[in-house]
Amino acid sequence: MNVVLLGPPGAGKGTQATKISREFGLVHLSSGDILRAERKAKTALGRQAQDYMDRGALVPDDLILSMMMDHIARPDATNGFLLDGFPRTLAQAEGLDARLAESGRPLDVVVNMEVDDADVTRRLTGRWSCPTDGRIYQEMYSPPKAAGVCDDCGSRLTRRQDDEPEVVTQRLSTYHQQTKPLVDYYSHRGLLKRVDASGTVEDVGAAMVRACRG
Ligand code: ADP
Ligand code: AMP
Repeated sequence: MNVVLLGPPGAGKGTQATKISREFGLVHLSSGDILRAERKAKTALGRQAQDYMDRGALVPDDLILSMMMDHIARPDATNGFLLDGFPRTLAQAEGLDARLAESGRPLDVVVNMEVDDADVTRRLTGRWSCPTDGRIYQEMYSPPKAAGVCDDCGSRLTRRQDDEPEVVTQRLSTYHQQTKPLVDYYSHRGLLKRVDASGTVEDVGAAMVRACRG
């Protein structure tokens, strides 16, 4: 099965992707995580992406499309993939469709996670992540057992620089202008499932598994 998770920053895509990918045996491909790894490794792509990411703008389509198609072509994705944070523009969605059609591996479902701007802003300004295993926490809704420390591996949790309030405002505006049109795009193709993502992590997870099962 090949799945896309759509939704604003902070909708809970990364949180739910872990559960869904395990449930259906999919490889989880987060464009944001891949870009952050490229930055950390100081690759040419990481350096090119840096300024866009810090401003809350989108990295150019051609860079993102070739980066994600490279991951989709890897052997671990042959049984199915879960795309998180990609595609984010109509050009990316069209490019993805064309490449997947060439390789005969079309998308099966696109899950749109619906949450309003006030909720996602609250979530993002309290997001903490584990730099070692990627586990995501929220200081009000899903805090770690000991403040600032990952429950699973004991690493010190970090905050993303782009979760500062001014950058969150910019990222949400980028989302409304460039990514939201994808809801109609996938709806016209008969692939869209809508999930109310404003509930608890458990309730949203259960609704998403139902949406993927169709
Ligand atoms: P995205 O990948 O869509 O940007 P994340 O999965 O990183 O979003 O979630 C953003 C923040 O919101 C994190 O701090 C996460 O712990 C928290 N979060 C995720 N889902 C929920 C939920 N259903 N209710 C409350 N907080 C949530
Ligand atoms: P995320 O982790 O999904 O919130 O993404 C963090 C940042 O990475 C975004 O604000 C963008 O700058 C960049 N990014 C991630 N995915 C994409 C994409 N599909 N297209 C363009 N830029 C992206």
